[in-house]
Amino acid sequence: MTSVLQYIVTTMEYLRLVTVSDLIDIAILSYLIYKCIGIFQRTNAAKVAKALLLIIVALWLSYQFNLNAMNYILNKAVELGLLAVVIIFQPEIRRFLERIGSNNVSRFFRNEAPVSELEETIKETVEAYGEMSKNRVGALMVFERDTDLSNIISSGTAFQSTVSSELIKNIFFPNAPLHDGAVVVREGKIVAAACMLPMSESMNLSKELGMRHRAGLGMSERSDAVVAIVSEETGAISMVIHGNLRRHLSPETLGRVLRNELLPRQEETPSRFHRGPGLFRQGRSEKGENQ
Ligand code: ATP
Ligand code: MG
Repeated sequence: MTSVLQYIVTTMEYLRLVTVSDLIDIAILSYLIYKCIGIFQRTNAAKVAKALLLIIVALWLSYQFNLNAMNYILNKAVELGLLAVVIIFQPEIRRFLERIGSNNVSRFFRNEAPVSELEETIKETVEAYGEMSKNRVGALMVFERDTDLSNIISSGTAFQSTVSSELIKNIFFPNAPLHDGAVVVREGKIVAAACMLPMSESMNLSKELGMRHRAGLGMSERSDAVVAIVSEETGAISMVIHGNLRRHLSPETLGRVLRNELLPRQEETPSRFHRGPGLFRQGRSEKGENQ
């Protein structure tokens, strides 16, 4: 009993020593660990970690059994390990820094689109996607959220227009001047067409999918944008969010996901991509199982 009391007293004494900078320190460290776990889950980092662990165990064994040559080589391997990790994870590190650097500060100063306008945007998009899917017209649309896509917008032709099914179909009509590249939607309005998206370097993408899908995947890996695609070859509708691609969606599912992802949340809906089980749950997507 006294030892429990002593433990509590010691803990209280320690807590009294905690300063604001300690709390900030812990918060930053927790965030970085959380991000690292995310990278581990999404990439091949687990395999690299296993390899590193193996090298460290081998190093310890070589030391214990006086295997000098082996110990020397493994020592060098560990010394170079940090550099190797930076090189191996260069794409992930770059994407992470890009996302930090492009948090949409300007969004605070913009008027958010009214819900009715967003609903109309989604309705018109779904209508256009249904028809383009039937007619096998390739399409690629990016719906901006918190990550600022100004650099993507400036890579294409900028203009401002409310979203209508006719306009979307006109933009993507084969050989129309702006059909190549992506349309960007910001606050419920089309703000650019023929935009160049960054390509994904994922090795898990199905061989059937080409540049349009790779560009959509790349965009979603580097931002929180919602990407919707129609395949010119198959007419299949796909969506990509946070680097997870789902194919062969019906227009109704497209509409449901767009509403879930883009409309302000009224209640916790289980189908939101990053919360619990849903259409875009990690591991069931293209990235996870390469369907
Ligand atoms: P589909 O099923 O429609 O054929 P896909 O994934 O097989 O799609 P491709 O056949 O390679 O892709 O499609 C090429 C089209 O993808 C281009 O005409 C262009 O419109 C679009 N595209 C290619 N690269 C980019 C990019 N970086 N950003 C935006 N759009 C791109
Ligand atoms: Mg193709």
